[in-house]
Amino acid sequence: MKLRDKVVLITGGGSGLGREMGLTFAREGAKIGVNDIRPESAQNVVTEIERVGGSARTFVADVSSSTAVKKMFSDFLAAWGTIDVLVNNAGIGRTRDTAEFSQTWEVPDEDWHKMLATHLDSTFFCTREALKAMVSKRSGRIINIGSIAGTTGLPFAAAYCAAKGGIISFTKSVAREVVMHNVLVNCIAPGFIETPMTAPIDEAMREQIIAVTPAGRFGEPADIAAAALYLACDDSKFMVGQIISPNGGYVI
Ligand code: NDP
Repeated sequence: MKLRDKVVLITGGGSGLGREMGLTFAREGAKIGVNDIRPESAQNVVTEIERVGGSARTFVADVSSSTAVKKMFSDFLAAWGTIDVLVNNAGIGRTRDTAEFSQTWEVPDEDWHKMLATHLDSTFFCTREALKAMVSKRSGRIINIGSIAGTTGLPFAAAYCAAKGGIISFTKSVAREVVMHNVLVNCIAPGFIETPMTAPIDEAMREQIIAVTPAGRFGEPADIAAAALYLACDDSKFMVGQIISPNGGYVI
């Protein structure tokens, strides 16, 4: 087992990539804190992990709130005493049901702020709390979920791309800062993956995306969980501030 008794917190762990990472890490012996904004999502994944013999607990919080994140970490450390791996994964593809693709000149302030807060503020808030525990014990891993949106840019998604680009730069900065404390910070920048977030993409656009993806398909959550497992375990102990991008060749 690659993560025996490691204590992991996955934000947005109640769906899609977070769920898959939770199940994968649990199979490798980790205890999983499943954060989500919706209690039922988090609880469903905890139940799934327990059903396969793993250990997990829910930590319901809106990670875009600094206060909620502080409370979540206090509850997490009270429950498990430590944190070995943080995965900053929580995210949204759009800020409201009707706002799938937005012209930048039409984006309202509140949508911009919500996108940045959900992805970038949350990554900072959770990283800040995790580092307090990890630096003092001189051990830890932080895995940030970026996106190809943050490396190449995608049209009609300026706030999402800005948030993901920010996460990538944040990763590089913090990685340099804390490697001396034996805390390794890296990022995964997935391409298009089949999850509830990409479910609204219509058939015509799906075909266009697949046509420019050399692998000829969307990725599966397992493609990302495998990269996350690598970054969480000892195999990656020389990886510092790197951006790994499982994307089927969409970006080369
Ligand atoms: P999902 O929508 O399946 O999962 C995201 C989860 O995060 C949901 O359960 C969501 O809850 C939760 N969440 C949203 N906001 C918050 C919040 N403020 N606090 C706590 N939890 C929250 O999406 P994916 O699994 O696809 O996405 C996971 C990450 O991967 C995201 O950061 C996304 O940007 C990134 N990504 C995804 C790609 C893809 O193709 N799927 C490609 C590249 C990056 P709710 O359901 O209520 O919204």
